[in-house]
Amino acid sequence: MAPCDADVAVIGAGPAGAAVALLLARAGHRVLLAERDTGPRLAVGESVGPGIRVALERLGVFDAFLADGHLESLGNMSAWGTPEAAGRDFLFSPYGNGWHLERGRFDATLRRQAQLCGAMLHGATRLEQLARAAGGWRLRLAGPDGPLDWHTRFVVDATGRRATVARRCGSARRPLDHLVGVVTYHGAGNKVQCRTLIEAERDGWWYSAPLPEARLVLAYMTDAGRHTRRALAGPPRPDSAPLTHARLVQHGGQAEAAAAIVPAYSACLAQAAGAGWLAVGDAAASVDPLSSQGIVSALEQGLAAAGALAAALGGDASAMPAYADRISSMYADYLVQRAHYYRREQRWPDSDFWRQRWVNA
Ligand SMILES: Cc1cc2nc3c(=O)[nH]c(=O)nc-3n(C[C@H](O)[C@H](O)[C@H](O)COP(=O)(O)OP(=O)(O)OC[C@H]3O[C@@H](n4cnc5c(N)ncnc54)[C@H](O)[C@@H]3O)c2cc1C
Repeated sequence: MAPCDADVAVIGAGPAGAAVALLLARAGHRVLLAERDTGPRLAVGESVGPGIRVALERLGVFDAFLADGHLESLGNMSAWGTPEAAGRDFLFSPYGNGWHLERGRFDATLRRQAQLCGAMLHGATRLEQLARAAGGWRLRLAGPDGPLDWHTRFVVDATGRRATVARRCGSARRPLDHLVGVVTYHGAGNKVQCRTLIEAERDGWWYSAPLPEARLVLAYMTDAGRHTRRALAGPPRPDSAPLTHARLVQHGGQAEAAAAIVPAYSACLAQAAGAGWLAVGDAAASVDPLSSQGIVSALEQGLAAAGALAAALGGDASAMPAYADRISSMYADYLVQRAHYYRREQRWPDSDFWRQRWVNA
């Protein structure tokens, strides 16, 4: 069977991939959007600051986002450097409040909006083969009805931390640390403050946030290895984090499933773009959840990537290298901020977790 044609194939339909597909399709390009997952997935990451409004408005999806009924967030509290929590209110933000997302709904809405703009979404479909062909790429996808062959001019890697396409194109990821999140979701319970709470302890730090439908997400962030094994001995318990412990008791909801361990290290590709391809979102550069910037950054990179691809499709040879430079300099700025924040916690000078972050910083 002759392969189908598209200008751009976007592999992965998380926030970054959906944003690129939406913008290119709206500009009149033929866009394939392939997503491996069949249904709702465990997509950790739910707290977003008020600034996300700018990206959602630029994508033209802010009204659809509001209709999804995410929980308004009033700000963040962090016990970091001291045992007492200090608050940062969104009260004075020019964009109003932030949100605690129902993440499955958020991702599904972005995908639907991309489809409404004309992107061809293939669910339960993953990339199997990728090879250079005349004028672009030949892709073999494995879908629910068998293999699908596509011929495209550009390929976008939006596969998240796997960076499947970039790695096949020879661009390596450079992890900075071994951070993992041990994550549990707690079912409907009592109301807790609509704020994200961050609390440092000897071997890592905790975050917790309320979610829509009175649920709560709790994550213990630590290094893979010794600490993860300890955490896996049973559900993670914030015994050394009194504010988090009190919040969990106050909420009182039951853990919905066993804890999941997810990678959360900072990493960046050596090159975020090359001949005929670019990477976007976590695939290009993944940041520490401490920053609460992953989703906004995925959308902002989606906007930048769509601009670069539209220019490249129009024959501008400088657009893709300029995009790669932009990702590198964004990651360099992030590293400065990360270093600044980790150095503010000095209470455990003999802890490997903190020492490694000060050295790396
Ligand atoms: C513990 C933890 C807590 C976090 N907390 C926050 C937070 O509070 N706020 C925040 O903003 N960010 C947070 N983040 C980060 C945030 O979740 C990510 O930055 C964001 O999801 C990145 O979006 P993305 O589209 O780049 O990648 P992803 O959301 O990972 O999407 C990638 C998509 O590609 C698909 N895919 C992968 N491989 C293939 C393939 N071969 N073929 C087809 N499809 C494929 C996947 O199924 C997935 O749907 C957190 C992350 C972690 C680990």
